[in-house]
Amino acid sequence: MQTATPSEAGLRARLQSIEGLELRVGEPLAGYNTFRIGGPAEMLGRVNTLDALSRILAEVADAGEGADPPRVQVLGLGSNVLIPDEGLGGLVLRLAGEFERVEFDGDRVWAGAGVPLPQLARRTAAQGRLGLEALAGFPSTVGGAVVMNAGCYGTEIKDLLVCTTVVEPGGRVAELTVDDLEPGYRSTVLQGRATIVADATFRTERGDAVAALARIRELNRKRKQTLPWGFPNVGSIFKNPPGDYAGRLIDECGLKGREEGGARISRRHANVIVNFDGASAEDVLALMRAARDAVGERFGVELEPEVVLTGALRARWTA
Ligand SMILES: Cc1cc2nc3c(=O)[nH]c(=O)nc-3n(C[C@H](O)[C@H](O)[C@H](O)COP(=O)(O)OP(=O)(O)OC[C@H]3O[C@@H](n4cnc5c(N)ncnc54)[C@H](O)[C@@H]3O)c2cc1C
Repeated sequence: MQTATPSEAGLRARLQSIEGLELRVGEPLAGYNTFRIGGPAEMLGRVNTLDALSRILAEVADAGEGADPPRVQVLGLGSNVLIPDEGLGGLVLRLAGEFERVEFDGDRVWAGAGVPLPQLARRTAAQGRLGLEALAGFPSTVGGAVVMNAGCYGTEIKDLLVCTTVVEPGGRVAELTVDDLEPGYRSTVLQGRATIVADATFRTERGDAVAALARIRELNRKRKQTLPWGFPNVGSIFKNPPGDYAGRLIDECGLKGREEGGARISRRHANVIVNFDGASAEDVLALMRAARDAVGERFGVELEPEVVLTGALRARWTA
């Protein structure tokens, strides 16, 4: 890691004085994502309150003073990110404390952005409130799922989301409706922005709790049969192109089982890359390029990453 400049050291000192923020410097990020890949975060913060989150973004904006402010990004469960081997500069935040609360109010359920989505879906189903069952089978926080408009088995977050509280760069707290997010297939306008999702309100319907919990178990059983288990991964690496499946196209190119360093295109599902032996981010990127180039050449289809390439990886991907 580079030594902090005086202004970075000043920002760090101001952040350290914020109540509700626990800050670590140079913390390796491999333990904070499901790929188990990535170098250290310049600063990794665990934020426990909305007030602290707002103050952090205000301090960071002040530190910019006309220049580019330090980059702030949130890590949920890290189940859809590839983190560079050299790590991430700026501030990486994880939402805990207040952000892990769930509240029920009539047919609405309110959840902090740090709540694990499978846990929320099971708690909601157990209350006889239906709608989230199809979203119980993959690792995600509520915040990550909102930003990604995550979906499974025909249900997407946007189908159930009513509104979300966000904290904008500079620290202003605002409420956005689902339409404000302009949700599309695994996308919302929040992607790549410095706006942070703090909570989400979902609508549900009254129904049978026992049947809903049984549906969750059944859908999760079905998923286990199709996805690779045992090795760290981030689920689908590419978005499905319109009317087709990225996995089918990669498979047709004969790439199942292809290896680069410690990473492999899964033999079970061609749209999943697994870290089978201490893979680096560069190993994964090399396999992604191989798949993109082969599919482009053979089918004339340009595969678009579903995994979020963080830090310098985005520029390396498009270079
Ligand atoms: C085994 C497996 C199966 C999967 N199956 C599916 C599936 O069926 N459907 C599906 O849609 N996805 C699937 N995924 C991908 C992943 O689980 C989803 O994209 C998930 O919503 C990511 O949530 P997260 O909290 O882990 O976000 P992260 O991976 O931590 O972050 C993803 C992006 O969201 C941003 N972000 C996270 N939280 C916030 C916040 N509070 N505010 C602002 N930005 C934020 C991050 O900065 C990053 O850019 C799967 C992953 C795995 C490992």
